[in-house]
Amino acid sequence: MKIGFIGAGKMAQALARGLINSGRITADNIIASSPKRDEFLLEQCKSMGLNTTHENAEVVQKSDVIFLAVKPVHVSKVASEIAPALSKEHLVVSIALGITIRNIESLLPTKSRVVRVMPNTPSVVRAGASAFAMGSACRDGDAETVERLLSTVGFAVEVPEIHIDPVTGLSGSGPSYMFAVIEGLADGGVKVGLPRDLALKLAAYTLLGAAKMVLETGVHPAQLKDDVQSPAGSSVYGMHKLESGGLKGILMDAVEAATNRSRATG
Ligand code: NAD
Repeated sequence: MKIGFIGAGKMAQALARGLINSGRITADNIIASSPKRDEFLLEQCKSMGLNTTHENAEVVQKSDVIFLAVKPVHVSKVASEIAPALSKEHLVVSIALGITIRNIESLLPTKSRVVRVMPNTPSVVRAGASAFAMGSACRDGDAETVERLLSTVGFAVEVPEIHIDPVTGLSGSGPSYMFAVIEGLADGGVKVGLPRDLALKLAAYTLLGAAKMVLETGVHPAQLKDDVQSPAGSSVYGMHKLESGGLKGILMDAVEAATNRSRATG
């Protein structure tokens, strides 16, 4: 299978690296495009062994699956450029925030096979969480193809398109919430006397470990929380502070606010 990326930025490079590292696709079967002004991005792609071009239509001619990995504002221009080269044999996978399947389909020839993905930044370290929705002309097997490609950079799941905005509010925007949590925990550690670099590492590993416990044990997080709280112990004192500040309510508000924002931009 030949893979093309229109756009050669952070997400395109993360996905390309994941595909190569997984051994599922070799670098010489991947091509990426970018305008001349972003030549340095193509140089980065070349250093990974990818083929590169300034011509978006060439990506289509040389690929079976084409990722639209440009900023949302560039999608309509790019779609009109590639439309003449597209056939029903191509699968077009858009990762552009807020651009609906119907919107992309309307820019491409009728019956184009379009998939919409909401990835997140931890894809760059192969710990991403992506959800994808299938367009009306997709065929049997397309969802499996997309799942196989995306799972090279983390967890990937198919959802109805109506869930893409809530996914944006949760896992798409979630890394930024968690970076703030890590920073806050580290600040707390510094306040009580830990060196900054140690506090930061402990905070990050704590989030990583808690996440792994939820995923690997399958135990409900409320139960895991109860399990570490001994009567009158330090954890329950810390938890009381968090709940006094409305931690869970604030997280729920954040997911809702980011979802609404995503809906408004779509
Ligand atoms: P980026 O700015 O790193 O890369 C964008 C790329 O598009 C660059 O290579 C740029 O040269 C290229 N480009 C611009 N105009 C072009 C054109 N006319 N033809 C071809 N290429 C063109 O952006 P990114 O962070 O990789 O994001 C790409 C998409 O992924 C965006 O739509 C974004 O909404 C979506 N996304 C990003 C994240 C994230 O966390 N970075 C998460 C979810 C979704």
